[in-house]
Amino acid sequence: MIKRVDSIPQKDCTACSVCLAVCPQNCIEMKADKEGFLYPFVDIHKCIECEECYTNCPSVNFNKEALEPYKNEVYACQIIDENIRRISSSGGAFSALSYPVLNLKGYVCGVSYTSDFKAVRHTIVNNEKELDDLRRSKLLQSDKNDIFLSIEKLLKEGQRLLFSGTPCEVFALKSFLAKEYKYLYTCDLICGCVASPKIYRKYLEHLENKYNSRIKSVNFKDKSKGWQERGIRIDFENGKSYVSDNANDPYMVSFHSRYGIRPSCFNCKFRGMDRLSDITLGDFWGLKYYHKSLDDNQGTSYVMVNSQKGKDLLMETKRNMHIQKMEIDITEYSNTYNLRVLSSPSPADELNRSEFYNDLDVMEFDELFDKHLKSICLERKRKKEEYLRKLEAGIC
Ligand SMILES: Cc1cc2nc3c(=O)[nH]c(=O)nc-3n(C[C@H](O)[C@H](O)[C@H](O)COP(=O)(O)OP(=O)(O)OC[C@H]3O[C@@H](n4cnc5c(N)ncnc54)[C@H](O)[C@@H]3O)c2cc1C
Repeated sequence: MIKRVDSIPQKDCTACSVCLAVCPQNCIEMKADKEGFLYPFVDIHKCIECEECYTNCPSVNFNKEALEPYKNEVYACQIIDENIRRISSSGGAFSALSYPVLNLKGYVCGVSYTSDFKAVRHTIVNNEKELDDLRRSKLLQSDKNDIFLSIEKLLKEGQRLLFSGTPCEVFALKSFLAKEYKYLYTCDLICGCVASPKIYRKYLEHLENKYNSRIKSVNFKDKSKGWQERGIRIDFENGKSYVSDNANDPYMVSFHSRYGIRPSCFNCKFRGMDRLSDITLGDFWGLKYYHKSLDDNQGTSYVMVNSQKGKDLLMETKRNMHIQKMEIDITEYSNTYNLRVLSSPSPADELNRSEFYNDLDVMEFDELFDKHLKSICLERKRKKEEYLRKLEAGIC
């Protein structure tokens, strides 16, 4: 018989899967709840109540002291290879940081889609061709399975490895390893939040039915109309494509409506200026207000250097990437251009949320959109227009 590991509260669990990796009985597995988010479940017949899962949970035992204090080093970066920049979410800094590691026969661990695009998982690659699977932001929390054990094995063999993930994932990996490895580089993201895998799957199935074809590729940051005007693009095997801006795409609206956000993201302990990673990557929204000539609307990475190791790795990318040191007040930057550097999203109303997920089980996606998301969509559009007007007028 299996039951949720109830010593790890839902508000804290980030699905990092450290509990799985440390369980001496191998009796924990990740299972989806009603909203589609993964949580640890234990086989109570095999459990010996050693509490390793609880005592090793990085989130329950989070200690702010472990974080590196903010070093005030922020760079605007654009990879020189324009093709790679076009297909990357921001300025392609992740690819540029991967090259020095791969060139020395090292490994890169990041997030890829499964072959049907309906789920995401952490994957280890060791060549440039496979690196492409890791590019582009996927909005779901990855399935990590036993990836931390595989990483530990490579590090113990003395291999070089760059790990990339959300801040909670980097924190989880480092807590699991519990010691410093000379050749481990970590890079986390400015992470807004992660989205419900169930809504995502249902949405893709809705589109597959509509287009009468299986999916060939998914891109949540399609830059065809420019980076600031980014949208979602889904290509189908029959040659058709679905393209939409974020404000009008039902899935993106569900993401931004807060119904689709993982509960632990409302309470995120890992965002902020102080980090455990060597490097933090994000979008340099607002670049034109700091360095107008750099902003060509093709994507610029916000790169925050958190350690000497991170700085050394960044400097190794100079041949492949334009790097510009920026003097910014991070609180002002976050409040004006990228809220998610510092603050968590606020939760949606509990009752509406549970009604939304009840309806998700029985309604078609169009119907669900009309009932729960349409008004949110209109309100978001109004707020965005107002924000852009104020920004242009220099009011905020
Ligand atoms: C869920 C999520 C929310 C984000 N929210 C913000 C935000 O609010 N503000 C902001 O400035 N930036 C945000 N980002 C970061 C941004 O979208 C880019 O991922 C980042 O700038 C790297 O871009 P790039 O051009 O260097 O790399 P790309 O080549 O596009 O590489 C993407 C990188 O992200 C990793 N990645 C992709 N999907 C996931 C995932 N689901 N979980 C963990 N790692 C993943 C890949 O492994 C790779 O390292 C978010 C990213 C994700 C995944």
